[in-house]
Amino acid sequence: MSALEIVQLEVGLLQNFCEVIGCPRTGEAVLVDPAFEVDRLLKIVADRSWRVTTILLTHTHDDHVAGLDEATEATGAVVRCHPAEVEVARRLAPRVEPVAHREVLAIGEGLVEALHTPGHTPGCVCWYVHEPAAVITGDVLFVGSCGGVGHAGSDPAAMVESLQRTLGSLPEHTRVYPGHDYGKTPTSTLGWELVHNPALRADTLAAFCAYKRVPVPPRG
Ligand SMILES: [Zn+2]
Ligand SMILES: [Zn+2]
Repeated sequence: MSALEIVQLEVGLLQNFCEVIGCPRTGEAVLVDPAFEVDRLLKIVADRSWRVTTILLTHTHDDHVAGLDEATEATGAVVRCHPAEVEVARRLAPRVEPVAHREVLAIGEGLVEALHTPGHTPGCVCWYVHEPAAVITGDVLFVGSCGGVGHAGSDPAAMVESLQRTLGSLPEHTRVYPGHDYGKTPTSTLGWELVHNPALRADTLAAFCAYKRVPVPPRG
């Protein structure tokens, strides 16, 4: 039996995915990006007699944190996110602690590692579950595409690094859990994405910007 069970839930009108990650042996669980329909997330937890100790954020765009206040009130959980996103999170939740790149959190008998993957926002974090190998990618990587890099605070060059180096170096059997249901399937594997996803196939900044139809930023 795997150390952790991952339950994916599609919520809201923007095809957002939230996850509940729990340790069946100890009952400890975390929520990822409680956005909409928090009651449905909490029902998954209650049905398994789990208890939520922590809430993990991929980033603090509204469609990923819209239910954070409700979720923290119901669970008393501590919120973990990248330092660059802490200020926004603290407007919504009383207990927010920054997480460092490569910091590994224990969830019951399982491990979840924070991967800082800037580009969509400066503080994007992908959450890498060690067993079963899985990565919650938020708006960095979608099945068959990737998140936007054309808005204030985004950085195409950082996005290429995050996709190629940080996510691209995970084991190919790693299951990808994206932040939105924008692909042909709700999840995929990193190996599938490396072959089929144009965002990962574009391995230079120029190729990536051409794919995303954004100007190539000047070298700084
Ligand atoms: Zn976003
Ligand atoms: Zn989003």
